[in-house]
Amino acid sequence: MNKCINDYEGIEIGPIRPPSEAESLLIRVTRNCPWNKCKFCGLYKGKKFSIRKKEHVIEDIDLIKKCIEILWYVQEFESRERQAKLQDILGSISDNERDAFYCAIRWFNSGMKSVFLQDANSMIIKPDDMLDILKHIRINFPQVERITSYARSDAIARISDEDLKRIADAGLNRIHIGMESASDKVLQLIGKGVDKQTHIMAGKKVKKAGIELSEYVMPGVGGNEYSKENALETADALNQINPDFVRIRTFILLDTVPLADDYQTGICTRANDTAVIEELKLMIASLKGITSTIVSDHILNLIPEVEGILPRDQEKMLSVLNWYLDLDEAEKMIFRIGRRTGIMNCMIDLADSNSREKVESIIGQNKISINDVDEVIYEIMKGFV
Ligand code: SF4
Repeated sequence: MNKCINDYEGIEIGPIRPPSEAESLLIRVTRNCPWNKCKFCGLYKGKKFSIRKKEHVIEDIDLIKKCIEILWYVQEFESRERQAKLQDILGSISDNERDAFYCAIRWFNSGMKSVFLQDANSMIIKPDDMLDILKHIRINFPQVERITSYARSDAIARISDEDLKRIADAGLNRIHIGMESASDKVLQLIGKGVDKQTHIMAGKKVKKAGIELSEYVMPGVGGNEYSKENALETADALNQINPDFVRIRTFILLDTVPLADDYQTGICTRANDTAVIEELKLMIASLKGITSTIVSDHILNLIPEVEGILPRDQEKMLSVLNWYLDLDEAEKMIFRIGRRTGIMNCMIDLADSNSREKVESIIGQNKISINDVDEVIYEIMKGFV
C-alpha cells in the first residue's frame, strides 16, 4: 500500500462535519477556516487556514480506494478468518495508512453512499481544482450518491454561475451554509463578515446551479435585544432563498469566545430557553411561500419535534412550540431539566411518570428553583459543545 508522492504526509481528517454527514467519508480539502472571525465560534481559533494541495487530496482518495479494495477482498472470507486477515493488515501498515484504513472501514460499514468535503469553507478553492477532486471521487467511487461541503456565503458569491454549474455537474450535490442570522445588525454583532444581501445572493446562486442547499440558523444569537429582528430578518431571507433545508442550531454563548466580552459589556443579554422558543416561533410563523424542510438535528435545540416540511407542517411545528410556551414555569423547568440532562427527549416525555420522577428528584436534590434554573441550564448546555 505504500506510495509516497512529493511532500504528501498522509491522510488528514478535519475536526467537524454536519450531523447529517455522520456516515460520510470525510475528505479534507482545506484546513481550518479562512475567515475565523465569527465572534461566537471558537472552533478554529489560533489555527491557520491553508488549502491542501490538490494532489494530496487526490492521494487521500486513492489511499481510501486501496483500503476499500482490501476490505472487499477480505469480505470473501469467513468471519474468523476475515478478522485475522484484518489484524494482519493493520499490524503491517504505517500509522498513516492505519488512519486511512479506519476511515475506510467506518465508511465501508455505512454503505459508502456519501462524501463530505472539509473544513469550514471548501468552496474557496479554485473551481478547476474542485472539479478535479469531485471527478476523482466520482470515478473511484461511482456508487456515491451525495457529495457535500460547508461554504461561506461570501465564497459562493465570488464564484461565477458558470463555475458553480460546472461544480454541480461534476457531482457536488449539497452545500451547507452557516447563515446564523440574516439581520444585518446581528451579523455585524457576531462578526460574520457577510450581510443579508450576500446571504440571499449566495443562497439563490446555489439553488440556481441545481445544488441542494442547507441553511443553518441560530435562534438566540442576538440575545434578548435583537430577538425579534433576528427572527423576522432571518425568515425574510429564507423566504427569498427557499433553501432545501433550514437547520436549527440554538445559540450557546461560550465563555471562551470573543462574543462573551460583548455580552459582558451589556451590548446583549443572554436569551433563556423560553425566549429562544418565542423567537423560533416568530421565525417559523414568518416563513411564507417556501417548501423548505425544517430540521432540528442538534442537542442544543430544546424541542426536537420542531421539524417538518413547509408549508404542510408549519401549524404542527407552531403548535408544539405553543405547547411548551403555554406550560406554567414549574412545568417548563421540568421539561428543560429533563431535556438538558437527557432524561427527556421530546415534549411528549413530560407525560411519562418515570421520567418526571427522575427529573423531580434532580431538581429536589440540587435545590433548583425557577429563579436559578436559567443558570443551571446554561452550565449544562456549555458542556454540549
Ligand atoms: S465561518 Fe464558520 S468556522 Fe469560520 S469562524 Fe465563522 S462559524 Fe467559525
